[in-house]
Amino acid sequence: MTLTLDAWTSRAAQLQIEGRAWIDGAFTHAADASTFPCTSPIDGRTLAHVARCQAVDVEHAVSSARQCFESGAWANLEPRARKHVLLRWAELVREHSEELALLETLDTGKPITDTTGVDIPSAAYCISWFAEAIDKVQGEVAPTSRQLLGLVTREPLGVVAAVVPWNFPALIAIWKCAPALACGNSVVLKPSEKSPLSALRLAQLAHEAGLPPGALNVVPGFGDTGQALASHVDVDCIAFTGSTAVGRKIAGYAAQSNLKRVWLELGGKSPQLVLPDCPDLDYAAQTVARAVFYNTGQMCTAGSRLLVHRDIKRDFIERVLVAAQAYSPANPLSPETRMGCLIDQSQVERVIGYVDEGRKHARLLAGGRRMLAESGGQYIEPTVFDCAHDDMPLVREEIFGPVLSILEFHDLDDAIAVANRSPYGLAAAVWSADLSTAHQTARRLRAGTVWVNCYEETDDMNFPFGGFKESGNGRDNSLHALEKYTELKSTIVKL
Ligand code: NAD
Repeated sequence: MTLTLDAWTSRAAQLQIEGRAWIDGAFTHAADASTFPCTSPIDGRTLAHVARCQAVDVEHAVSSARQCFESGAWANLEPRARKHVLLRWAELVREHSEELALLETLDTGKPITDTTGVDIPSAAYCISWFAEAIDKVQGEVAPTSRQLLGLVTREPLGVVAAVVPWNFPALIAIWKCAPALACGNSVVLKPSEKSPLSALRLAQLAHEAGLPPGALNVVPGFGDTGQALASHVDVDCIAFTGSTAVGRKIAGYAAQSNLKRVWLELGGKSPQLVLPDCPDLDYAAQTVARAVFYNTGQMCTAGSRLLVHRDIKRDFIERVLVAAQAYSPANPLSPETRMGCLIDQSQVERVIGYVDEGRKHARLLAGGRRMLAESGGQYIEPTVFDCAHDDMPLVREEIFGPVLSILEFHDLDDAIAVANRSPYGLAAAVWSADLSTAHQTARRLRAGTVWVNCYEETDDMNFPFGGFKESGNGRDNSLHALEKYTELKSTIVKL
């Protein structure tokens, strides 16, 4: 049953929201009792006062995680017992999906249709997917002489720290926690200061499912909390998703402390190439619009650069502008809303800064204004620019807002060169009816994911997700994610 705006609003008013940190299997205040207000981008209302964890709280969480790991309370459980706990956790996430989705929508301004339909179900699926992997991934027996037996096994790293951003708070947290826990590690998770709420509730549900104290800890806080984790000498691995600028710092903290493993999922400026033989212009235009306006453009994979062939440019742009109208922002609690808020006022100002600068160098075709300011919420129109060249911040830099830059091309080699002329390499798309051209173009695009005649199509967990170049290293999702959270060990026995 789909709930109405009024029904969601009344449920929101009754929601009990927890803001304390989750350490050693219990909610706790920060050691110095400090908190920060967590406000909703929907109307500016304070949702909770959240524990502001600092170095001493990080110390507490890391030592609890270490103790849990060394005790074997989680790491040494039979594979089927670990699987059982994670499957139960996934079940509890499903049972509480409405509450979690509402929490996520209030905290981030995502449409309730997305949090109920995508974020929370995908998080539950991710947990069960990695739970099922626990007793199916095998070690290896190396080829050796007849006098030796060589075993290659995967062992947990120990304490994994996960630092995550605000655009998919529950889902990205689970992308780290589920495989790390499946491998037997203990985890300390730092959610973004802009969206800390769902992580706390997820950890409580994990505990209810049977995860022992210390196996999963959540320390809300700001950059200094993340820095304390990334610099900590008793943390074995830092798995980070966020901006390239902070990713660089994280790599530095790891280098300067204990050379912990560093996995970075960073920014993007993904190109979408539309060739003149694009099979279905209407479908392509709707997909292009969705690729950049979904989640208000706050997507690392946002297809924010559209390269369209000269012969179809005018026609295609008209269709994109029509498709963009479906993303007129509105109250995220309404089930009809397709585009909600940006995360906060600073992000709105950042996006408007790019738009104002863009107006000087490119032609604004649609949008560009703040909307619904009287609501106290953070809304921006879907915005489209026609750009004569790619040598401007609008086209080169990650905006993380609903802004599409369009470039024209007439030669495919040039288009591929422009597409690849970016420090990022997270995702790309090519639209063509010719299978050979599409495959050859996909091969030449320097990106972790290339979509052909679609965008954001996936089977949730079956594809490795991550970037080339300054979009990061390592991969979330798929069995490859397990490589991030295990060490390979060779054991050689002389017979
Ligand atoms: P951000 O880099 O500002 O923050 C990410 C996290 O790092 C937050 O928890 C933040 O508190 C923490 N942090 C900030 N400074 C820190 C420091 N000095 N040391 C340690 N931790 C620190 O990113 P954001 O603004 O929250 O998210 C947007 C960015 O995330 C975009 O660049 C986007 O492309 C990227 N992103 C990437 C992916 C991916 O999988 N590649 C997915 C989602 C978002």
